[in-house]
Amino acid sequence: MINLILFGPPGSGKGTQAAKLVEKYNLLHISTGDLFRYEMGNNTPLGLEAKSYINKGELVPDSVTIGMLRNKVEANPDVAGYIFDGFPRTIPQSEALDKLMAEMDQKISKLIMLDVEDVEIVTRLLERGKTSGRKDDADEGVIRNRIDVYKDNTFPVYDFYAQSGTSVKVDGMGSIEEIFDRLCAQIDAIK
Ligand code: AMP
Repeated sequence: MINLILFGPPGSGKGTQAAKLVEKYNLLHISTGDLFRYEMGNNTPLGLEAKSYINKGELVPDSVTIGMLRNKVEANPDVAGYIFDGFPRTIPQSEALDKLMAEMDQKISKLIMLDVEDVEIVTRLLERGKTSGRKDDADEGVIRNRIDVYKDNTFPVYDFYAQSGTSVKVDGMGSIEEIFDRLCAQIDAIK
């Protein structure tokens, strides 16, 4: 199996690239943000709880997020591998993911970070907010909070996987195709 963490700040292109990678490598794309938005759209208890955090640009608590991720993985055991997008976002989430992988006799093959500058992120997210219908893309204060949360809580996940030599960075600036080619080169290098 190939189990990837597609990593990077909000607006770095993870969702766009994951959709293309899924087609090429036949992996299951699991985006915790998409899962939360689905629950919010259906007004489920999980969705209602998540909404209060998401609309402010805060992280949903680990216990809720980890449980939801675990359910999704366990419901889809017979796949060629997973692309985790937007998860893990904290060290406890990383530890929980490693434990889940170990239970399946699997491990994370690579964490690939899309490296994009802050100014570019804000521009991209405000642009996306015009059409995405996402409250958390529409307000510059919320966007800046998401970037702060990324730096404080989420960036340490890169270092966590770097300890085992699992983390790599690719340049996230350029055209969608250029960035896709850089990602494919990283994936094709997995032994
Ligand atoms: P995303 O679509 O990945 O940008 O996620 C949108 C929002 O959902 C984030 O700003 C968080 O509020 C929440 N979220 C998504 N994934 C996670 C996660 N792994 N841990 C905590 N909150 C999350």
